[in-house]
Amino acid sequence: MCSTMTDLAEKLYKEQTLSKRELTELFNCDTDTAERLRSLAEKVRIENYGCDIYVRGLIEFSNYCKRDCLYCGIRRSNQNCERYRLSFDEIMECCDEGYNLGFRTFVLQSGEDPYYDDDKICEIITAIKSKYPDCALTLSIGEKSYDSYKRFYDCGADRYLLRHETANKAHYEKLHTKSQSFENRIRCLKDLKQIGYQTGCGFMVGSPYQTDECLAEDLLFIKDFNPHMVGIGPFISHKDTVFKDHPNGPVELTLKLLSIIRLMLPKVLLPATTALATIDPRGREKGIMAGANVVMPNLSPVSVRKKYQIYDNKICTGDESAMCKNCLDLRVKSVGCKIVTSRGDSKNV
Ligand code: SAH
Repeated sequence: MCSTMTDLAEKLYKEQTLSKRELTELFNCDTDTAERLRSLAEKVRIENYGCDIYVRGLIEFSNYCKRDCLYCGIRRSNQNCERYRLSFDEIMECCDEGYNLGFRTFVLQSGEDPYYDDDKICEIITAIKSKYPDCALTLSIGEKSYDSYKRFYDCGADRYLLRHETANKAHYEKLHTKSQSFENRIRCLKDLKQIGYQTGCGFMVGSPYQTDECLAEDLLFIKDFNPHMVGIGPFISHKDTVFKDHPNGPVELTLKLLSIIRLMLPKVLLPATTALATIDPRGREKGIMAGANVVMPNLSPVSVRKKYQIYDNKICTGDESAMCKNCLDLRVKSVGCKIVTSRGDSKNV
């Protein structure tokens, strides 16, 4: 049994894919196999990206949201969420600070906030790209039309993060309201890639109603979609949501999935997410050791950080958060890697 399992890790390394059944076997593998998966994934990360860990400055510019995703703390129907929007100047100040810290990628993330219409988003993109032409700009602002995505791209946005959340339609419908469709989520991802964005998809590990079969479908979807980036992190419950009593996603499974994704798509960009670091004090380090090669510290003003609470107990929201860069440098060094301040484009082209 043991050797068969380890063979599966070797097979994944050699063939860069597995069947649905083999994948679900790996999710439940013994610790020896988990360690084999991890070390193969680390080796593949090093072969493709060396010891470089890319850093992205995350700017959470609005927590208003017209959607009502059942798992998310900033969902429309959460009356306890104190809403905020950053002004144009505040967003630019975040970039100035990030640039001085050495960041060469900015990620603009928000709820789906109609206040920022296409003209306003274009104005922000144009301003950031003309002030900092050496930086990459990533958007993570949800579902839009093809034409909106195209306008943002033509203004200079380089990358777009839109997690598919789950590749199983029935599961998707259990996590979202009727106004949201699986088909539209996937349409968005295809449009983004077709327009020319470096595109990121992803999902939560341990979300309500998720089965091993759903996870295997996620991985096969990702393999087939062949994105430039994949964001995965554990589900973490939020006290003001329908899923407040649902347990958090497991750390070990998240790490295994990071390794599997690294082996399926050797050149993909793979963040060690804040969610992983929130449920495990060494989450970032463990994520990197499992094959991740990106970290995304928060650049939002300290005054608003606690308000962008998509799940409970999110880290780096207190006064100490100005020190995030130093703290990350040390963490990354402790696992034999180094933070680099280049744009950090994906090699998965
Ligand atoms: N509105 C944007 C950004 C959403 S927040 C969009 O739709 O893309 C970014 C990601 O956080 C989501 O895609 C989701 O996967 C994750 N997230 C939301 N709630 C979460 C929770 N309770 N636990 C863990 N991750 C969560």
